[in-house]
Amino acid sequence: MNLKKYIQDIPDFPKPGIIFKDINPLLANPEATAQTINLFAKGLHGFNATKIVGIESRGFLLGILLAQKMGLGFVPIRKPGKLPGKIVKQTYALEYGEDSIEIQENSIAEGDLVIVHDDVLATGGTAAAACKLVEDCGGTVVQCNFLMELDFLEGRKKLENYALHSLVHY
Ligand code: 5GP
Repeated sequence: MNLKKYIQDIPDFPKPGIIFKDINPLLANPEATAQTINLFAKGLHGFNATKIVGIESRGFLLGILLAQKMGLGFVPIRKPGKLPGKIVKQTYALEYGEDSIEIQENSIAEGDLVIVHDDVLATGGTAAAACKLVEDCGGTVVQCNFLMELDFLEGRKKLENYALHSLVHY
C-alpha cells in the first residue's frame, strides 16, 4: 500500500509559504491506518521496548494504536501547563524563538526502553527534546519512529545518536 496516497498537501498552512502535510485522510481510512500500525510494529522487531511515548498532538493518534498493538503502555509528552503532578520540562529552539514540552516525571521508570513516536520529523527539534525528556526521567530511547520524514529539513542530524524509522520520506 502506498501510504503517500493518504497524506495530502495543504498549501499556506499554518502560514503563507508552508506546505502542510495533512495525515487526516490516512486516519479516515481504517485499512491505511491498520497498515501503518503493522509497518511500525514490524520495524520494532527486536527492540524489546517497554513504553511508547507520543508527542502532542498528532503523535498521540498513531502512538496509542501502536502501543495497543505492541501490548505496551503509552505516555504523552505535552505542551507546557497541560500535565498534572510533577513534570520534567525541556525547551528547544525554533526557527524564530523557542518552544517547550513536558512529561510526567513518574511516567518513565529507570531502565524503561522507550520508543519516541510522532507523525512528522521536520527539523528534529521536537523529537530531540522528547528524547532528552525520556533520558532525564531515567529511560533509554531505543527507537524514534515517524509516519513521515521531511528529508530536506535534515532533522536526522539532531537525532544522530538514535535509531530512526520513518515510513515515508519527502
Ligand atoms: P520539528 O520539531 O521536527 O521541526 O517539527 C515536528 C513537529 O511539528 C511534529 O510534532 C509535527 O507534528 C509538526 N509538523 C511540522 N510540520 C508538519 C507537517 O507538515 N504536517 C504535520 N502533520 N505536522 C507537522
